[in-house]
Amino acid sequence: MYLKRIELHGFKSFADKVNVEFQPGITGIVGPNGCGKSNISDAVRWVLGEQSVKSLRGANMSDVIFAGSEDRRAQNLAEVTLVFDNSDRFMKYDYNEVEITRRLYRQNNEAEYLINKQQCRLKDIVDLIMDTGLGRDSLSIISQGNISSFADSKPEERRGIFEEAAGVSKYKKRKLESIRK
Ligand code: ATP
Ligand code: MG
Repeated sequence: MYLKRIELHGFKSFADKVNVEFQPGITGIVGPNGCGKSNISDAVRWVLGEQSVKSLRGANMSDVIFAGSEDRRAQNLAEVTLVFDNSDRFMKYDYNEVEITRRLYRQNNEAEYLINKQQCRLKDIVDLIMDTGLGRDSLSIISQGNISSFADSKPEERRGIFEEAAGVSKYKKRKLESIRK
């Protein structure tokens, strides 16, 4: 499985529809300060279910919607789609391509989630990616400042980081869910 493409429309600085294509292997994104590099990783985390406005570097969730510029009107909708190549069926979903979409409308703060263009719940996306190590709390995305906070963290917190990396935490989560039921 690998991330093949990100489609952004109205997300942060990406006012127009932009497709970013990736090949298997390592990709570097380079550009001047403020050109939107981190906005791309914010977009990935957003689609994977990030609910923390602060970690998306905003004050409200609607701050992810293009806010307008001198010569462009603000957008009413932010939409990001991640397209994964799933020909190895790493994701437990029987399609060669898996498209995960998140939308947010400015007007009523309404959110929409889609898997392969079918509307779904956020939970369906979280469940789909939980086994892949891509989840919101996983270490697949390490932001600026993460490294020093790992180094400074308490032993129990550091244990949590290892459990996440080893894939133990999803079983802990399932155990908690079944105890609650
Ligand atoms: P650096 O090299 O400094 O880390 P970067 O390439 O990572 O820079 P980003 O943080 O991705 O830059 O992008 C910041 C830019 O995105 C700023 O110019 C900011 O105004 C713009 N931006 C963020 N949110 C929005 C929004 N909702 N609407 C329009 N522009 C936005
Ligand atoms: Mg940055």
